[in-house]
Amino acid sequence: MDLKHSRSVKLNDGNLMPVLGFGTFAPDEIPKSKANEATKIAIDVGFRHIDAAYLYQNEEEVGQALRDKMADGTVKREDLFYTTKPGEELLPKDAKGEIILDVVDIRDTWEALEKCKDLGLTKSIGVSNFNHKQLELILNKPGLKYKPTCNQVECHPYLNQSKLLEFCKSRDIVLVAYSALGSSRDPTWVSSDSAYLLEEPILKTIAKKHNRTPGQVALRYQLQRGVVVLAKSFNEKRIKENFKVFDFELTAEDMKVIDGLNRNYRYDSMPFAVDHPYYPFLEEY
Ligand code: NAP
Repeated sequence: MDLKHSRSVKLNDGNLMPVLGFGTFAPDEIPKSKANEATKIAIDVGFRHIDAAYLYQNEEEVGQALRDKMADGTVKREDLFYTTKPGEELLPKDAKGEIILDVVDIRDTWEALEKCKDLGLTKSIGVSNFNHKQLELILNKPGLKYKPTCNQVECHPYLNQSKLLEFCKSRDIVLVAYSALGSSRDPTWVSSDSAYLLEEPILKTIAKKHNRTPGQVALRYQLQRGVVVLAKSFNEKRIKENFKVFDFELTAEDMKVIDGLNRNYRYDSMPFAVDHPYYPFLEEY
């Protein structure tokens, strides 16, 4: 990832993915209209990679924000990278944009995604929450037409995914980090006694040294290790703050110290899915 010359990374299918993405998930109690307002602000600020999902139940609002920003001339469709994660039942009929697949029936569903790409319904296809064995299932699938371009997983200094990252890099798959700021802490998914990443003293110290915030350090950390990073905020000040990560650099020592914070701590281990045959988090990586 060459951050000096480009704010995008080339995927293994030749398409470009902006290295900083805007997350749109919000807990149920947040009015859906906020997703619309925040997405418009994010585009005004410069975000060109928008991460959405059928599950977030706000694609209508997010989609309207994109249409509004295209209509007012702020952005062109070809400059936007829109990721969605459809429910299995939506494939391939309603699939739009760049599609990431959550764990369902891995190989059959991958073929459905390949078909979406062939039909021109999406430019790029990738996966989410896959461990390395599940990635291998796809990579070794007889008749594989397209490799996954990316694997979107939880990734932050407390769960830095160094082994999965190495594996993905070796297969030319981009790792996309979600919950990079320590997650939305939605009580439906995340335990209330979980650690606050952005209160981490080491991140605070490094942030102070660079005259930045812990959030900016957490995002920059991912960019410098070749990870595409998502940041969710529905607050104008923090949306702007999160985009200001291209004009400073962490030192090699800073990176090492942040690496040392890893404790394989997962905010959302998806306990509801633990009995699913493809539950991904029992593997080391
Ligand atoms: P996140 O990006 O780790 O953090 C969001 C939380 O941090 C929000 O509560 C936000 O609150 C706050 N925040 C944002 N910027 C901040 C800053 N600069 N300083 C202090 N606090 C800040 O959250 P996430 O939603 O878990 O992950 C990001 C995106 O990844 C999601 O929105 C979604 O698109 C995607 N995701 C995917 C999966 C998957 O399974 N594939 C799972 C989870 C998430 P405010 O809004 O009040 O600023």
